[in-house]
Amino acid sequence: MWLGWNIVWLGALLMGLNGTVAWASDIQHHHYEELVRALFVVQSECPYITRIYSIGRSVEGRHLYVLEFSDNPGIHEAMEPEFKYVGNMHGNEVLGRELLIQLSQFLCEEYRAGNQRITRLIHDTRIHILPTMNPDGYEVAAKQGPEFNGYLVGRGNSREVDLNRNFPDLNALMYYYEKTNGRNHHLPLPDNWEHQVELETLAVIKWMQNYNFVLSANLHGGAVVANYPFDKSRDPRIRGKTTYSATPDDKIFKKLARTYSYAHSWMHKGWNCGDFFDEGITNGASWYSLSKGMQDFNYLYTNCFEITLELSCDKFPPASALSREWLGNREALISFLEQVHHGIKGMVYDNNNNPIGNAEISVAGINHDVTTGVDGDYFRLLLPGTYTVTASTSGYLPSTSTVTVGPAEAIQLHFYLKVAPKDTNLTQSHHSKKNLSSAKVPLNLGPR
Ligand SMILES: [Zn+2]
Repeated sequence: MWLGWNIVWLGALLMGLNGTVAWASDIQHHHYEELVRALFVVQSECPYITRIYSIGRSVEGRHLYVLEFSDNPGIHEAMEPEFKYVGNMHGNEVLGRELLIQLSQFLCEEYRAGNQRITRLIHDTRIHILPTMNPDGYEVAAKQGPEFNGYLVGRGNSREVDLNRNFPDLNALMYYYEKTNGRNHHLPLPDNWEHQVELETLAVIKWMQNYNFVLSANLHGGAVVANYPFDKSRDPRIRGKTTYSATPDDKIFKKLARTYSYAHSWMHKGWNCGDFFDEGITNGASWYSLSKGMQDFNYLYTNCFEITLELSCDKFPPASALSREWLGNREALISFLEQVHHGIKGMVYDNNNNPIGNAEISVAGINHDVTTGVDGDYFRLLLPGTYTVTASTSGYLPSTSTVTVGPAEAIQLHFYLKVAPKDTNLTQSHHSKKNLSSAKVPLNLGPR
């Protein structure tokens, strides 16, 4: 936590991101070894605010490295939200990978230069950057080179599995629970799920289990649009039919997507790559339905709100296009990150001021709860408005408060739960575990 930023906040807003372009002037593509080297250079230039860790290895044994930015790297501070960017999940969609390397260098340089906006962001947020989720696929695609416009070469991992069709399908269960008043968050994984996913997917799911992420984006290419959940249609069996599949948080997801598209130099204009998307955003299923994608999984299995960013018509743009792309995306990447600080956040304590982990925070009118992390802290993204919020956990009496959220900083709202008297019936019926087999859907190989 770092206070006192507000004095120069406006100045930072107006001039903060116009400083460093030196590193951006001649951006090259990075093979795996070059990517690793670039991350370690950033780490050595900003050692006190960065950490590099691996979340696992690809099928061919390459580490999936994450660069973390924080004022206390390696430590979750209560009430400080965790954010992630994931790039290059499809090995042949490479712009996100390069943008995340640029972003890493930019955060480090601007921090060192005293940019108030970036300094504040790093002090108040724990930022995790995974430039490539599919390093094996990238090497296959890179062999073809930027001139080759192959749509599929290097898309999958080295076993040619599409990682954005490889997450456990929790949508079917969610859509069933919606109708039966069942559980609305943290849905159970299928039995034996570890053996049903690729190594890269396994690593990312374990990563999600170990960090209480609040907000995320998954960077792709092949179109230019900010795509938000759900990706999977509520009736995927109707071939060729696209239907909007809203989450209970549809309004906030639209706002998150708009934040990116309007801060991007041209995404919001709508016409890109021969497609038109109003305001540069789209619901996933209303574009085309896909199953087992990563963004739906984030929402249904964790506290994290993830959107999918399609960033370039050309999946593997020539190096000469990278500087323009970086400048077109830079403000959007920072603005989206700042969204993690909206809504409400706080602690849930027991009578003795001990934090309670895994307590549920529900907002009246939004059928999607979030939970507290192991430190007892929670983060609930919300649009400005007045909300009735309830904290509950088994063995305690629930506590309800009304809160008004403004357009700026997250409002702090703490809860103190009293132990329930022994005869209170607090059985929560919606925790039953049930496996539903997923419906068969046509394989769709669009950009996502
Ligand atoms: Zn993709």
